[in-house]
Amino acid sequence: MVDTTMVFIWWIRRDLRLFDNPALHTALAARGQVLPVFILDPQLLKANNFSKIRYAFLVGGLRELDQELRQRKSRLILRAGKPVEVLTKIASEIRLGRIFAEMDFSPYARQRDRAVAKILPLELVGSPGVSHPQAILKSDGKPYTVYTPYMRAWKNHFQPKLFDLLPTPEQIPTPAEVGSVPLPENDSDISSLLFKPGEQAAQRYLTEFLVTDNSDDDVIQSEGAPIFCYNELRDRVDVDGTSKLSPYLHLGMVSARHAAASAFGAMEQAPTSLQRKSAETWLNELIWREFYLAILFHFPYVVHTSFRPALRSIQWLNDQVDFTAWSQGQTGYPIVDAAMRQMLSTGWMHNRARMIVASFLVKDLLIDWRWGERWFMQNLIDGDVAANNGGWQWTAGTGTDAAPYFRVFNPVLQSRKFDPYGSYIRQWVPELAHIPDKYIHSPWEMPNGVQKQHRLDLSQDYPNPIIDHAYARQRVLDVYKKAQQRAH
Ligand code: FAD
Repeated sequence: MVDTTMVFIWWIRRDLRLFDNPALHTALAARGQVLPVFILDPQLLKANNFSKIRYAFLVGGLRELDQELRQRKSRLILRAGKPVEVLTKIASEIRLGRIFAEMDFSPYARQRDRAVAKILPLELVGSPGVSHPQAILKSDGKPYTVYTPYMRAWKNHFQPKLFDLLPTPEQIPTPAEVGSVPLPENDSDISSLLFKPGEQAAQRYLTEFLVTDNSDDDVIQSEGAPIFCYNELRDRVDVDGTSKLSPYLHLGMVSARHAAASAFGAMEQAPTSLQRKSAETWLNELIWREFYLAILFHFPYVVHTSFRPALRSIQWLNDQVDFTAWSQGQTGYPIVDAAMRQMLSTGWMHNRARMIVASFLVKDLLIDWRWGERWFMQNLIDGDVAANNGGWQWTAGTGTDAAPYFRVFNPVLQSRKFDPYGSYIRQWVPELAHIPDKYIHSPWEMPNGVQKQHRLDLSQDYPNPIIDHAYARQRVLDVYKKAQQRAH
């Protein structure tokens, strides 16, 4: 029996979708009315981590969600303020049943939810990952701190089961009288986004990644589908070989369960074993995401310091001029500059490029990984505390499952291997667009005579490398070694 006077709040945070949404589904199952609420939390807006582009993507996503809700006799209630105060106020305006929200695992989110649960009936359901971090533990009950055994355990836990993805509700009965503030106006920022916000766009990206043929609504998983070429192409920065789902996964415009179920589906349907392997490699990336969520949950201190105590006393140089050159894409290393400018311009950067620029900042320039981590959070459209911290600590060699500290990426070799024709560099560093292939990865080697021939004057147009890589490599190895010796 539906009690039309009882209202259940669906408190939306990082689950901006209707399909496969456990918090919404649970609120609907409570058989009253459902109030979809999003709170613009000033704490998040003023945080050190704030990114204008991610905010525009969020606002666009809320607008899309509101439209989807309106097609289902509902609407988005937007309020601004401290969540505990806003929810208390809303609770005073309705006959509140319970508040349902998807779990979130950042230290701030957990503290916020504890504060709300102290005074209001908050029930946390679902997860921004496929499951709760407590679901995959070692046999002694402790969390995994190394990816490969975690990944195996994860697959053992989930592989035999099919996920029951929850359908998009047809109607969401919502009380008419509760007020909402208007969505912030930032339409110009939204229209310039590389990624169209919202659940529909997320579904399109996922479908395009899984299929190549799409006739009369029949999606056909074909042999040439990008997911089946992923193994081959995913490291090439000059090719569109990855799903580009990260902004959507971050804000839950597509659920992690949906993405994982799609990977399992592709593995099952793969025509050849190589293609099956390719789909599995993509699943493994989704499991990296799960792994870092679990690390953040079990070891929240990683947001402040190295996971490995032995590397907490590295003597960073933290040179502000070097940091500015890096952050603005002016290091004189074309691959580093292309990647940093791609992020400044679009909010997105290829994974391989993220590893190259992170290694360059930490290892070549000896700048604290936390400076880079913050810059990424301030500029990435998919900036995500768990994945970003995991990626930075991995590259710096300070993390749980880290690259050994003596692995120092050589930016020129990486560039030759993963941007073999230099087209990524030419796209993002236009001053090098006409440079001959031979010099595109290391323009400082270009003799003056050849420059003249090509009407280039690199001393004017493009910086010289701000550091010599061979020298920097030896320097960082010494510094890391000393930090380790100090710790023992
Ligand atoms: P795909 O290759 O298609 O992978 C599918 C999904 O798997 C991604 O959307 C993402 O959700 C997840 N994924 C893939 N690789 C990783 C990984 N290494 N760690 C965690 N999840 C992964 N990812 C973010 O989502 N937000 C971040 O803030 C972020 N910061 C990073 C910082 C550094 C220094 C590094 C090295 C990596 C970072 N990553 C981050 C991981 C990765 O670079 C991006 O997830 C990926 O580039 C997104 O592109 P895609 O959606 O096409 O990925």
